[in-house]
Amino acid sequence: MTDKIIIEDLECFGYHGVLAEEKKLGQKFLISMELSVDTTLAAETDACKDTVDYSRICSQVKDLVQEEVYDLIETLAEQIARKILHSFSSVTMLQVTVKKPWAPLMTSLGTVGVQITRGWHRVYLGVGSNIGDSKGTIEKAALLLSRHKDIRNLRLTSLISTKPYGVKDQPDFVNGAIYLETILEPKALLRITQSIEKEMGRERKQHWGPRTLDLDILFFDDRISDDPQLLLPHPEIPKRDFVLAPLTELNPYLIHPVYRKQVSELLDDLTRKASYEKTLA
Ligand code: ADP
Ligand code: MG
Repeated sequence: MTDKIIIEDLECFGYHGVLAEEKKLGQKFLISMELSVDTTLAAETDACKDTVDYSRICSQVKDLVQEEVYDLIETLAEQIARKILHSFSSVTMLQVTVKKPWAPLMTSLGTVGVQITRGWHRVYLGVGSNIGDSKGTIEKAALLLSRHKDIRNLRLTSLISTKPYGVKDQPDFVNGAIYLETILEPKALLRITQSIEKEMGRERKQHWGPRTLDLDILFFDDRISDDPQLLLPHPEIPKRDFVLAPLTELNPYLIHPVYRKQVSELLDDLTRKASYEKTLA
């Protein structure tokens, strides 16, 4: 979907800047926004209620620029993006440009500005537990995530009991998956999932060993990352039926961005491979 609503150079007054004079005297800021919104319904009905209200957006942005005080226009741009994404649920993504035409720089230039893109990301998490009240722990973790202000539309799958993977000599696992939408970036979401693991009493003793809670980021939109701190998609997905089955429950058509196959196909492949290996044994 590529529809965009464009607001250019909205004039605002504010007190952002590192210098004391900027905070005292204030200055002009020019805010531009490109909002990704599905406009097809509004075009069909020709009704204001079916689109985002531009005048409300402008007044919310003007108020924010005037009322808050930040040192950096980077922070101002971030806060504008967050405000719009939270207030207008039909805006899936937006680009915000903040320009400072009167920036007190000892040189001559047109304007100085920053531009950022933020949006609601579609995320799938894997959940597992094999110590204590596993079902209760997973449900509590899902509840904590769903209450986070930057997370919406969370869904938890049904939970399945599975034999341990990797390290066999440990209790059976309870596994499932979570779908959520978030405006957090991947590393920020990882910090939250790790803090919830900790809150639930997780101790990192043994790789693939017993744990009260494991929350893995399986997919983050269709991003691919080889950063060992956060590999995306999670590299074990195609090998684990207890991950693929819940993913298929959430969305069978979901496409793995590396293998270019739907999760339901990856699950079929794995099941076929396992039954073939059984015939060899
Ligand atoms: P595992 O899930 O493999 O049993 P841990 O949960 O203890 O092990 O995670 C070990 C490390 O894996 C974490 O420190 C984390 O930074 C890293 N990691 C890499 N990719 C991911 C991912 N997609 N989701 C969660 N953690 C990840
Ligand atoms: Mg993990």
